[in-house]
Parts: sequence; C-alpha cells; structure tokens
Amino acid sequence: MKRALFPGSFDPITLGHFDIIRRALALFDEIVVAIGVNGDKNYMFTVEQRKEFIEKAFADEPKVKVSTYQGLTVDYCREIDAQFILRGLRNPADFEFEKAIAHTNRTLSKIETVFLLTAARTSFISSSIVRDVIRNNGDYTVLVPESVRV
Ligand code: ADP
Repeated sequence: MKRALFPGSFDPITLGHFDIIRRALALFDEIVVAIGVNGDKNYMFTVEQRKEFIEKAFADEPKVKVSTYQGLTVDYCREIDAQFILRGLRNPADFEFEKAIAHTNRTLSKIETVFLLTAARTSFISSSIVRDVIRNNGDYTVLVPESVRV
C-alpha cells in the first residue's frame, strides 16, 4: 500500500492544495492530509473547521483521509506507515524552502518527498492571501473549494 502524507496548516485549504491532492491520487493508494498542530501559531480557523473543510471537499474520494498531528512529520509518517511525503511547489522560493525540509526529513528517515508542480491557474494562491481576502470581505470563494465557507 503506497501511502503519502500531505502535511500543512490548511488554514484554510485552497484550490492549490485541492489540485495537488487530486492529481496525486493517480500516484498513491491513500493520501493522508495531515494538519500540523503548532501551539505557537495563531490560526484563522480552528483545527476542527480546517479538518471539516478538507473532509467535505473530498467526501466523494475514499482514498483521501484527514488527520491532525503534532511533532515531527517523519515521526508521524512512521506512526501511520506513510512511505512518502507529498508537497506542492509554486515557485523558486517554495523550492528552496522545501529542499531544506526534504533533505532534513531524508536525513532523519528513509521517507521520500514527492513534489508536484502547481497547476498554472492555481499557482498564485496561498492560504495567507485567502485569509487576507476573507478579512477584507473580498470574494474568497473563487480561491477555495466549495466546502470552505466563512
Ligand atoms: P505550510 O504551513 O507548511 O506552509 P500550507 O498549508 O500552506 O502549509 O501548504 C501545504 C503544502 O501545500 C505545501 O507543500 C505548499 O507548497 C503547498 N501549496 C500551498 N499552496 C499551493 C498552491 N497554490 N498550489 C500548490 N501547492 C500549494
């Protein structure tokens, strides 16, 4: 069973995340979308809301599971027996950041990180931009799956 972990904050899930997960379904038997819980960070949505947005977005897809975790991503991969970490790449800044994390994770474990390039039409979307649009009463619905409603 090829299981991939897609870790992130998903505050909230965007069409960019959605696209990466959909396309990765062709590569893996199961994708666990894992919300990393970091006590120091201030989130716009609670972990329960973030989980529900993702679950609803993939309600018709049994290969997608949603969970939460604390601590090192590689430890959580071992715990749930995920052999792969899935990440999306939007631009060179993402690449530099992700490269260091992937090397670290590979040093700490045998887990391979698989990168998918974003679809061009969603490559500009980030959760932080979505939060800004929400805060300023803009039309965020064009940036997120239908399950995300404020
Ligand atoms: P983090 O808190 O780790 O930045 P995010 O929830 O922002 O988590 O992102 C999780 C993953 O989704 C990362 O690999 C990130 O590069 C990817 N991602 C974020 N936005 C997009 C997008 N628009 N298109 C493709 N991948 C994206």
